[in-house]
Amino acid sequence: MSNNWERRWHPLLEQWVIIAANSAVRPWSGIVSDTATQARPAFDQHCYLCPGVTRANGTENPSYQGTYAIDNDFPSLALHAPLAEGDEQLDELRQRAPARGVCRVLCWSEKHNVTMAELSAEGMHNVVKLWQHEFTRLHTNSEVKQVLIFENKGVETGASNLHPHGQVYGYPFVSDNGKRMRQAQNSYAAKHPGQGLLADMLSHPDADELIVEKSAHWSVIVPFAARFSYETWVVPHRRVANLAELHDDELQDLAHTYQRQAKRYDALFKRPAPNITLIHNAPSDSDDPSVNQHWHFHIAMQPPLRDPEKLKYLAGAEAGTNNIINPLQPEHAASQLRECKI
Ligand SMILES: [Zn+2]
Repeated sequence: MSNNWERRWHPLLEQWVIIAANSAVRPWSGIVSDTATQARPAFDQHCYLCPGVTRANGTENPSYQGTYAIDNDFPSLALHAPLAEGDEQLDELRQRAPARGVCRVLCWSEKHNVTMAELSAEGMHNVVKLWQHEFTRLHTNSEVKQVLIFENKGVETGASNLHPHGQVYGYPFVSDNGKRMRQAQNSYAAKHPGQGLLADMLSHPDADELIVEKSAHWSVIVPFAARFSYETWVVPHRRVANLAELHDDELQDLAHTYQRQAKRYDALFKRPAPNITLIHNAPSDSDDPSVNQHWHFHIAMQPPLRDPEKLKYLAGAEAGTNNIINPLQPEHAASQLRECKI
């Protein structure tokens, strides 16, 4: 394999990814990410997520310990979004509707300076139980058609508050990626009866090159057509459509497995690593279980770095086409991640 000028098909998003390992050695005069670890206090009176602090809307946070979930004070979606005049008149070129939905903020702990990688085992278990609880709560809301739980970690991802936290969006429609992933998994299952796209990815004859870790119930794998240099997916061995279907032992094992992968990124990038985590539950747009019968729940972790000091930006070719150029061969990324001492 040349490692260069290779395109790989991303079967879940049904798009090409360009693997361009030669672009990684180009002379770099772009922005360099700060690898120095800045010490942060355990409590910051100016942080609106810390315990006991009064938020911008005048609400005082309780003196909480452990996980804490609140409605976003400045949400992009709202269940009470009003109908505007003309909203119900369909015009092919000007369709609009109220952006009804829910935006929540999830704190992983009361500590302003403790990331998921640094939580106790019990603390991390409480985080995955919070994910499950928040998903289940919104999944049954008739206004919500898709629940996305995510974390923007680190200034490099655009996080506006460094208190370790995630967010939940309950969308009033199925997202573009939600539609693509469901369609791709349905098509694959139709072509290969009794099989599943993600299950076959894990059991592929060459999967060992890409697998970072296999625990009792989960595998961590670099996707064959990774879109980001050190992207990994945390995939359950048993196909479930969403967090609510996970058993207690699977949830507990997820806490350990996810945390180990977060620790690998910290070890690789030599600091609390910036990362975007996306928890891909099946859409919540139907009560008929057959609609999502081929959806395989998984979590994508996408650090925005191409190496410890270089940020990966979506440049013109990528923004213009949605076909990503990854400067690192996925097999090489998996090997580096396997070697991280955690
Ligand atoms: Zn804080």
